[in-house]
Amino acid sequence: LAKTQQRSQFQFYIASVDSEIRERKRLEKDLSEALGKDEFHLLYQPQLDYKSGRIVGAEALIRWIHPERGFVPPDHFIPIAENNGSIIEIGLWVLDAACQQAKIWQDKGLDIKIAVNLSAVQFKDAGIEEDIRRALEKHQLAAQYLEVEITETGFMENLTKAIEILTRINQSGISTAVDDFGTGYSSLSYLKQLPVDKLKIDKQFVWDMVENKQDFSIVQAIIHLGKSLNMRVIAEGVETAEQEAHLIEMGCNIGQGYYYSKPVDPEAFEALLTDLKAAQIPAPCSTSN
Ligand code: C2E
Ligand code: MG
Ligand code: MG
Ligand code: MG
Repeated sequence: LAKTQQRSQFQFYIASVDSEIRERKRLEKDLSEALGKDEFHLLYQPQLDYKSGRIVGAEALIRWIHPERGFVPPDHFIPIAENNGSIIEIGLWVLDAACQQAKIWQDKGLDIKIAVNLSAVQFKDAGIEEDIRRALEKHQLAAQYLEVEITETGFMENLTKAIEILTRINQSGISTAVDDFGTGYSSLSYLKQLPVDKLKIDKQFVWDMVENKQDFSIVQAIIHLGKSLNMRVIAEGVETAEQEAHLIEMGCNIGQGYYYSKPVDPEAFEALLTDLKAAQIPAPCSTSN
């Protein structure tokens, strides 16, 4: 009995791996056609400056609406795109769309910087600086309205090269941010060598900071670290007034999260610019920038 059971479990395993591979292949194929079929769009999530109480930035987040599956989360398809290289093309589209939107807001007199996520694969690609430069040029957008977010894994593989690329990006006037800070495995010593303007505290720490002492301390440590390295610190995943109060108290510079807004389309974002200002200006805080 044990033997037949083992065998059927084994067959079940093979079958499920097989269907997983087929599922991945299907998704890969659909992904390769998604750009041409215009299935991507960007949503924007506001970033609130705690000193002024104003929205100063927007993180651009890609959305894929699959004709049959509907919404496919980026955490699901970005790794596939990174794996087969299509992230390069998708990333170009994101850069272009984000710069176009930033220019529209500039022309309307709205002072919004747009942050774009760069995958480690894009960052390693030799053409990245040129791609960014061309997107800015195409839309006649000043570099100061663009920010790039890169996770630690994006530069750990070749630190020397990453420093060179980031330095040039930064010198051209584009801001640079380390995304999901605190979740990587890297040593802190690399940070002082990087031309980085902002640290983004990963949302998992922010979520648990009120209930969990360790997470509270980690958030506090990252804010202190940012201050002493002359970087601005942004908290992602802010969901409650209590989290916000702690973050402001600790001297965090910027907040982003569902407490302010989910990622929304450009029209809804513009509405937030007036609504959020009126409704949710946090008490002015005495901490310096
Ligand atoms: P990320 O760059 O760390 O983006 C933050 C994620 O947290 C977003 O998820 C955002 O919607 C979510 N988030 C923000 N505040 C809250 C909150 O208060 N509560 C909760 N539950 N979630 C919150 P999203 O849009 O699903 O994106 C997931 C990840 O996919 C991003 O993480 C980023 O790594 C990647 N991604 C998204 N768009 C792009 C893109 O255009 N290019 C690349 N290369 N990666 C992207
Ligand atoms: Mg990000
Ligand atoms: Mg993040
Ligand atoms: Mg993330």
